[in-house]
Formats: sequence, C-alpha cells, structure tokens
Amino acid sequence: MLHKAVQVRLYPTKEQQVLLAQTFGSARWWWNYALNKSIESYKETGKGLGRSALNALLPDLKKAEDTSWLAECYSQVLQATTLNLTTAYKNFFDKRAGFPKFKSKHGKQSIQYPQNVKIVEGNVDPSATLGVKIPGNIGIVKAKIHRPIEGKIKTVTISKTPSGKYFASILTEVEGDNPTTAEGKIYGVDLGLKHFAVVTDGEKVSKYDNPKHLAKHEKNLKRKQQKLARKPKGSNSRYKYRKVVAKVYERLSNSRQDFLHKLSYKLVSDSQAVIVENLHVKGMVRNHKLAKAISDCGWGTFTNFLAYKLERKGAKLVEIDRWFPSSKLCSNCFYQMGEMPLDVREWTCPHCGTHHDRDGNAAINIRAEGIRWLLAEGSAVSAVGGEVRPKMGRKSNLRHSPLSTEADTALGTPSQCG
Ligand SMILES: [Zn+2]
Repeated sequence: MLHKAVQVRLYPTKEQQVLLAQTFGSARWWWNYALNKSIESYKETGKGLGRSALNALLPDLKKAEDTSWLAECYSQVLQATTLNLTTAYKNFFDKRAGFPKFKSKHGKQSIQYPQNVKIVEGNVDPSATLGVKIPGNIGIVKAKIHRPIEGKIKTVTISKTPSGKYFASILTEVEGDNPTTAEGKIYGVDLGLKHFAVVTDGEKVSKYDNPKHLAKHEKNLKRKQQKLARKPKGSNSRYKYRKVVAKVYERLSNSRQDFLHKLSYKLVSDSQAVIVENLHVKGMVRNHKLAKAISDCGWGTFTNFLAYKLERKGAKLVEIDRWFPSSKLCSNCFYQMGEMPLDVREWTCPHCGTHHDRDGNAAINIRAEGIRWLLAEGSAVSAVGGEVRPKMGRKSNLRHSPLSTEADTALGTPSQCG
C-alpha cells in the first residue's frame, strides 16, 4: 500500500467556521488536559498514560457539569487527538522530536478525522465543483481541489492558520507495492547553522545556504512582533495587529518551506539513500541560543520532507545517532580530535596531515557511517564507493515516513520545526 497526501484549501461558511472553531477548541482543550494528566501521572508513577487510559477519561468528562460541552464534539476527533498525543510522546522517547507542547488558541489549529470524510461533487456553490464532506454537524465544505484525489481516504486533517485560512490535508492509500531503489547516489548531509546543509555524494562537497530573502522576512517579523508587544494588552489594535504578524509569519514559513521542498527534491531525485544525523532536540536544548536557531531553521521539517519523498520512490533515509562525532573525526584516517569549537571552520589532522573543511569533513563522515550501517543491515546498496569505516558501536535507524500517523507533518506545517 502506498500513502499519498494532498493539501486542499477550504472555504467554510460563517456557520461552518463557528462549528469548526468549537471543534478546534474541544480538541485543543482535550490535548492540553490529556497532556497535563500524562505529566502528572509521570511525576507520580514514573509512567505516562497510554492511549486507552486517556480515552477512558472521556466518558466522565462528558458527563461532568463544567465539561459537558465535550459531548457535542465529534468523538472520533477527540480520539484522533489522543492518538496524536501518544504518537508525539513516542517520538519524544524515540528521540525524534521535542517534548509535546501545550496548544494555544493563537497558534495553528488542527483537528483530525480518522474516517468518514468524503469528497463530494458539490452544488454547494456554482463556482465550486467539489466539496469536502466532514462528519458530525459540519457538512459539506466548499474546497479548491486541483487534482483528483486518488485511492481510499484514510485520514483528513483540517487546519486553520493564524491568519485565518482553512486547509484540509487528505491522506489516501493507493493499491500497489512500495517501490525500492538500489540505484543512484548516496548523499551524506551535515545540517548546520553556518550553512543550512553541506552535502557530499562521496566525490564532491556542495554547500546550500538559507536563501537571503528568508533573513529579510525574519527581520520584518521581529520588528512587527516588537511593535505588537508594545500595544496595550486587550486592546482592539493589538487584536488587529496580531493578524498582521500572523501574515508575516506565514510568508516567512511559506518561503522557508519552499526552500526545504526544493532542496529535498533535489537530493531525492537522483539518490538511493540520504544519510543525516538524528536531531536529538532534547540534548540541544541545553544551549538555548543554539536551540532557538534550530527551531527556526527547520532541520526537523527538512528531515520529514526527505523521509516522505524518499519513501515515495523507494529510497532510504538513514538517521545516524546525534552524538556521532562527525565534526571531530578525520574522514581520512579516523583520528578523533579532542575539541572542535564551533568557530573552527578548517583544521589539519595531526595524525595524517589532511587539511579539512569542517562541514565537508562532517558530511563525509556522516555518509560513511550511514553506508556502514546500510551494509550491516543487509541493504542492497550499489556502487557505494569510498572507504567504509569499521563499526563503532552507535545506533542508527532507517526512518519511515511519518505520513501514516500525521499527514500534516509530512506537508510541513510550521509548528513542526525542530
Ligand atoms: Zn587524519
């Protein structure tokens, strides 16, 4: 079975917007409540709460006087929220993501329907040929669908951006075997702050920088955020200005995603495997300045883009352990340097005398480590080239696309930076 995700723009009516807002609100409240319960349980017993334990809390909440409005929420939306929360927990424990965050009503809103969403020929509006039928009381929402939706609809995520746009991300399942590719290049990728990505195919090293206009958008966002902070709390002008800030944020995140899509497409188009370091966000948070830069620069989103694009063509994404000393290891003789401060851009190996560009050397090491792992795992990789280092006892893993659990992650929602 193949999974595909398509994103379409939705145009709900005023009444539908109200109903959606209620559903967003219920799902958000439940997420925060369940997350809080899990944290409390963890503090008391050393264990979080699983999916069924959390879902078992719902019937009583729906009966309780102050939370009885939960009963009006389409129950599968609440259960999908539970599933996403437990998945977020698992990703955290597998070191693939940071700790799940509480959701705010000012951020992007989203709800997921695990089944019963249909694409319908609409006479909702003469200008719309198609609509998305959402279960519960919402009904058919006018949609702009550019291509026919192939296959069986699995889940649909409805979201609203802070600037007020609605989208549906539709995940489908199509008949057919997953392809596999054992031809093409094997790329080693070092993600960094100086250059966004330094890539090697074993022969040459290429450096990819964040596009310049990103910095311009970032500066603009910062200025507008400061202006927002100066507006009196609770004032109408503050409320209005919040939308202005959300629009700038959206422009920034769109151009960042555009860059990440183009670069990931480039690396996937002629490769059989891409090797990256696992971003152990938790460890990075120790250095706050660095953590900020990481959450801004979209490494996590980039890795997700690579994962699903590679899976789609049957190629592999290998994530090697984050604590692998890729910068400190001489890629020529494997001598390991004791220290390698961030400002050292070039160095000479004291053992073999090879002069290294810091990032190029790291990318070569990452690539070699990934190839070693692929061979040990028995993957049919062809024409690997280069030298393969002996095993050094680190964990690596083959990343599977996150498509099946969180369609909107694969489509790169801004909240998934990091
Ligand atoms: Zn050396």
